[in-house]
Amino acid sequence: MVTGPDIDIDATHDLYVGGEWSPAADGGRFETENPATGEPIAEVASATAADVDRAVAAARDAFPAWRDTAPDERGRIVHRIGRLVREHADELAAIESLDQGKPVSQARSDVEGAARYFEYYAGTADKLEGRSVPVGPEQVDFTLREPYGVSAQITPWNFPGNLFARGVAPALVAGNTAVVKPAEQTPLSSLRLAELCAEAGVPDGVVNVVTGFGDSAGAALSGHAGVDTLTFTGSVRTGTEIMRQAAGNVTPVTLELGGKNPAIVFPDADLDAAADWIAKGIFTNAGQVCSAADRVLVHESVREDLLDRLVERAESYELGPGRADPDMGPLASEAQFEKVRNYVDLGREEGATLAAGGGTPDREGYFVEPTVFTDVEHDMRIAREEIFGPVLSVISVADEAEALQVANDVEYGLVAGVFTSDVTRAHRLAGRLAAGNVYVNKWFGDTNQTPFGGYKQSGIGREKGLEALDSYLQTKNVAVNLADGDGADLPGA
Ligand code: ADP
Repeated sequence: MVTGPDIDIDATHDLYVGGEWSPAADGGRFETENPATGEPIAEVASATAADVDRAVAAARDAFPAWRDTAPDERGRIVHRIGRLVREHADELAAIESLDQGKPVSQARSDVEGAARYFEYYAGTADKLEGRSVPVGPEQVDFTLREPYGVSAQITPWNFPGNLFARGVAPALVAGNTAVVKPAEQTPLSSLRLAELCAEAGVPDGVVNVVTGFGDSAGAALSGHAGVDTLTFTGSVRTGTEIMRQAAGNVTPVTLELGGKNPAIVFPDADLDAAADWIAKGIFTNAGQVCSAADRVLVHESVREDLLDRLVERAESYELGPGRADPDMGPLASEAQFEKVRNYVDLGREEGATLAAGGGTPDREGYFVEPTVFTDVEHDMRIAREEIFGPVLSVISVADEAEALQVANDVEYGLVAGVFTSDVTRAHRLAGRLAAGNVYVNKWFGDTNQTPFGGYKQSGIGREKGLEALDSYLQTKNVAVNLADGDGADLPGA
């Protein structure tokens, strides 16, 4: 058991299915480790396809009663989850920081966001109204917004607990039940959140958690005929695979995938403020953020001024284990550490200049220094591929047209940022950037209330805000005849 002032983690963890804890069908378990040391924290059940069957069956069984629970009551229960998340905020943040590696103050902010998701969506539970459609005096026509049924949620390892809440809260208020498959690197916060859901009064089977690996538990869930809608956050490669698996059952998917997000800096910007936002945008959570500020597209006349500021900020970061609340923690896993190191090597080979960082501190754990590459050309792989680490690419541009062209000329389109004091230019670019979210003179401007998702390969559908509810509700149109006789209606009219 791992203990500490604010944490108490059991040595073994089971699956949470139908309101009960049970081992995997074959007794399999895997270790989840502390990325600051590489040491194991606990053993977690490794769900098999049979366990996923059981979880989906439990969610299906629980669905009719949950769907038919009065919406205001569903809202109250979901609101109580938010309250419990707040009451356990220190514990949840400690678990997340230990398992994922992020500084505990960032984990605390994730937990605050998780509580907000439950509170925000709780308030929508009794406002999910349909429309009345005026088709003439001979028919009453209206729409109903109905839950899909079983919502599968496959979550990544960068914001595990926060994304549990982001998906489960709207799924539940809309009347769906859920089966959550957290990432194998970071299962612990989801298991604790499932307990808090039960404590809040969520009936057995309405929220289930199957821990396990992507190619076994994840694949079994995404290809399961009993799943009615699927939400995934992660890489494009895995998202594509999940879409393929879901296609077999025509299961609708909501996908929030990667990004290669441009921060465009014009000479009229406040360069100190821009550098602060960009450093925060790329080094928060060690760059393991879909909406990270991966690329700076800076006007050549202020390139050196901005670069100096970015380097100064990068070099000021203190690294350490998340629980000590440093400026930056380790990467979340050895695999990610290797991947990021390979990209740093690649950047050098491609001819970019290392302006800051690039090294790995001489200590245990998966630490990579905050890294800034300059002289980056737009066609280099480090400028086009998602690195998912603390590695910033600085690209020089000659004018607004080139900035826009380079910004949009990647496969991704999740977020983009514009730093300028020219309000006309800010609006002009906001309209033309091919991204689901545009920040002006800031970074990470989304809240629980604002829709979030990608253009192009960055995804399908929207998370957050009222838009997210569209992933959890399907429309039924009801036509009631008021006329005598069989009328003249024919299909296709
Ligand atoms: P990474 O490759 O960086 O580990 P992924 O996008 O593959 O990130 O992982 C996000 C989530 O997707 C995790 O929960 C993982 O277990 C799951 N996953 C990975 N591969 C598959 C798959 N083939 N089918 C379903 N889920 C998967």
